[in-house]
Order: sequence, then C-alpha cells, then structure tokens
Amino acid sequence: MSDNIKGKVIVITGASSGIGEATAKLLASRGAKVVLGARRTDKLEKIAEDIKKAGGEAVYQALDVTVTEENEAIVKLAKDTFGKLDVIFLNAGLMPSSPVSALKTDEWDQMVDVNVKGVLNGVAAVMPTFTAQKSGHVIATSSVAGLKAYLGGGVYCGTKWFVRSFMEVLRMESAMEGTNIRTATIYPAAINTELLTTITDKNTAEAFNALYDQYGISPDRIASVVEFAVSLPEDTTVNEFTVGPANQPW
Ligand code: NDP
Repeated sequence: MSDNIKGKVIVITGASSGIGEATAKLLASRGAKVVLGARRTDKLEKIAEDIKKAGGEAVYQALDVTVTEENEAIVKLAKDTFGKLDVIFLNAGLMPSSPVSALKTDEWDQMVDVNVKGVLNGVAAVMPTFTAQKSGHVIATSSVAGLKAYLGGGVYCGTKWFVRSFMEVLRMESAMEGTNIRTATIYPAAINTELLTTITDKNTAEAFNALYDQYGISPDRIASVVEFAVSLPEDTTVNEFTVGPANQPW
C-alpha cells in the first residue's frame, strides 16, 4: 500500500498541530517528503525535527493561508527543495462557533478567510504546476459540518459546505479537462486537537468540550485516511471520506 507514497512531495497546511501534525508524521514515516506550513513556526520546527530524527524528510515555512503570496511561496519551497510537487493537503482551519445572535462578526470573517479563502489560495497556488504536469492530488479537510447543519455552526458549517462543493467541481472539471488532478475531501467528526480553543462563546465552548470529552478520537485516525487516499494508484480517486468516533451519533 505504501509504494505510491514513497518519494511523493506533499505540502500540508495547518501542519503545526492536530490533524496536520499527525498526517505529516505518518506520511513522512511512509517515505513522503513533507513540506509543513502554518503560522507557529516554533511548532513546525519541532515537528520537522521529530520527523528527521525518525529518518524522514521535512522542511517547513511560515504560512498564513489567507495571504496569497505565502501559499505560492510554500509551493515554491517544495519544488526548490525536492524538485517537484505531488500532493497538497489543505487542512488549515478554525472553528470559533457561536449562535448567530451573538454577532461575532470578526470571527465570521476569520472563518471565511481561513476556511474558504485559504482553500482557494492553496488551490490557486498549485494549479499551474498540477495542470502543466498533468497530475496532482488535492486533499482538503472539510468536516461533518460540511454535511449537516447544527446549532452554533451557522458560519463554520457554511465554510465547510463550501469546501465540499468546490472540491467536487474541481474533481469534475479536472476529469473533463484531462489534467488527472485527483481530489479527496475529508469530513471528520469529533477529533481531539486544539480546534476547540478557537471557540470564544462560553456556552458553545462548554457544549463542544463535553461532546469531545465523551466521543473524541485521535487525529491519527484522520492521518490514516489521508495515507490511504495518497496510496491509491494514479488512475483511482476516492472523493469523500466521512470519519469519526464509532459511538458519536452525529
Ligand atoms: P488544530 O487547531 O489542532 O489545527 C488547526 C491548524 O490550522 C493549526 O496547524 C493552525 O496553525 C492552522 N491554521 C489556523 N489558521 C491558519 C492560517 N491563517 N494560516 C495557516 N494555518 C492556519 O485543529 P484540527 O487539527 O482539528 O484542524 C484541522 C482541520 O480539521 C481544520 O480545517 C478543522 O476545521 C478540521 N476539522 C477538525 C475537526 C475536529 O474535530 N478536530 C472536525 C472536522 C474538521 P497555526 O495556528 O500555527 O497557524
């Protein structure tokens, strides 16, 4: 299974914690060359060191996905360092959930900027390369919030629905245009990461913390799904994965 992973160059956004960190470590252990992006470079430095100590290959660079040029710069880092780019995992995101009536409009803007525009910026940064080489794999972290509406998720759910729709159109158009760009969209449920620290609304934070205390599972589970998607032969795409705790009702 790991043959199609070895040697692949993979950019990961939001690689400084949680799902991105777990995925970077797993893919590197399978022989991928990983390029880590996030804002907290102290964390990225430590993760890259851990990967190298374990015998893997990793580089990192400060990346704010809301800044177009920084997305282009990390793609350039991947190509300059490793000579090519095979996969981008668009995983950076935040979830400051709250009731609409709380009018946390700054947080609405942040979610749109990171969860929506961050994905667009990442895709725009890799498309010239993937189109020219007629191959490439775009993997994105949506959420079960991209499949279902729930209280407190008015804006977050909307951003993750966007990812679902956009990725499906990207898949369809790439197939029709013959560019062989594959896509995979992942819909995690409760995964124990730093994500809940982005919630500032007290009642919403309490409700989510209780839910995750009851059901949350390790981000390693999502890393395994990304590993599977990357491992598939180039003529095959699994477009969507819904993954969560076996005992979580929604
Ligand atoms: P974490 O908070 O642990 O990780 C979020 C990552 O996103 C961090 O590496 C953070 O890095 C990065 N990030 C945030 N803002 C930016 C930015 N502007 N530019 C670049 N990177 C940024 O949470 P998760 O691992 O859970 O989150 C990963 C993805 O999974 C998100 O898209 C989230 O919505 C999604 N998800 C998570 C679920 C869960 O239950 N945990 C469920 C469903 C989906 P830094 O702060 O260093 O920039």
